[in-house]
Amino acid sequence: MTSSGARGLLGEIAEVGRDARRGGYTRHVFDDAELELRAWFAERAERLGLAVTTDRNGNVWAWWGEPGPDALVTGSHLDSVPGGGPHDGPLGVVSALAAVERLQTAGFTPSRPVAVVVFAEEEGSRFGIACLGSRLLSGALSAERAASLTDAAGNRFSDVARAASLGSFGADAEALARIGVFVELHVEQGRGLVDLDAPVAVGSTILEHGRWRIDVRGQGNHAGTTALVDRRDPMLPAAYAVLAARRAAAARMGSRATIGRLEPLPGGTNVIASRVSAWLDVRADSEKDTRDIVAEIAAGVAEAAAAEGCEASVVEESYTGEVSFDPRLRDRLDSALGGVPVLPTGAGHDAGVLAAHVPTAMLFVRNPSGISHAPEEGADDAAIDAGVDALVCAIEELA
Ligand SMILES: [Zn+2]
Repeated sequence: MTSSGARGLLGEIAEVGRDARRGGYTRHVFDDAELELRAWFAERAERLGLAVTTDRNGNVWAWWGEPGPDALVTGSHLDSVPGGGPHDGPLGVVSALAAVERLQTAGFTPSRPVAVVVFAEEEGSRFGIACLGSRLLSGALSAERAASLTDAAGNRFSDVARAASLGSFGADAEALARIGVFVELHVEQGRGLVDLDAPVAVGSTILEHGRWRIDVRGQGNHAGTTALVDRRDPMLPAAYAVLAARRAAAARMGSRATIGRLEPLPGGTNVIASRVSAWLDVRADSEKDTRDIVAEIAAGVAEAAAAEGCEASVVEESYTGEVSFDPRLRDRLDSALGGVPVLPTGAGHDAGVLAAHVPTAMLFVRNPSGISHAPEEGADDAAIDAGVDALVCAIEELA
């Protein structure tokens, strides 16, 4: 396998989890598509002589050498958002496999254990909390909180975990202690590298980010027989929230606020909803800006709800402060790669979770469309090859 190996591997999974309705891919943790990808990954890793295990939080580890301690770990995730692109997650996994094969073929002997990891539920698309696998492993999320999470069909995480034979999930100090350094390669989720005309960058920081659920409760009723003055329609405050999110973020430089998911209950064309849930995603340069944006939206929604005779609540589902990747590791990789762009990102990653515990770095790979979390996302072939080259270089440098 040469550097085109990564592209070959992507080709092997190109039909898994295709979403005919949304376009792109829907691969949610432990659904049929994601399970198929897990089995495919294990088979591919074992073919390289790696020893594959799944930890108690559903993260998959493929070991080159003894499992830890002080291992160099690389990898990413195989789950996707609903209707996501082909490379968010899988690019980091296939590049890691391709890099290991290249180094094996070249006769490279690592001086420390090396592992390729696939983290579980990175997108949080099934149970609502992004980076669930790495948050559980590192103790950033408690087992009690995870146990209570449910998916859209009402399945509890604890039941799904049991069905997946995970055993007792939660903080895993042993697994964490095996990681000496973590490097995650990821498709860039913006146009930074296109503008700089470079295929690969090293990551500097991740914006503050969090998720909040806004619930507005009103009175379900008939769309035809209920006079406007008699309505308590929760959709109106929810609509206000969408507009308030844009306004609040636009007032603060570099901030982003998005409502990309809205669930009216019961959800009928001729039915005034009894409840609307909206999920708010906010990212900003500082915790103050993030908190101010959420507070501004919450206050506005409360007012809009009161005016409509509804009640509103805002609950934080997850929050992550700004992440600065290890500066020494960043500089070491940058110089090993001969000086490449150093870029921040607004996207959360398992690397951001692990950065609180071990030296962590990210490599970003050029994405000509700049689009991500949508079918148009994707790195170009030359950048994919350059990404594998960079990862090979990183492993040689660090292992
Ligand atoms: Zn990702």
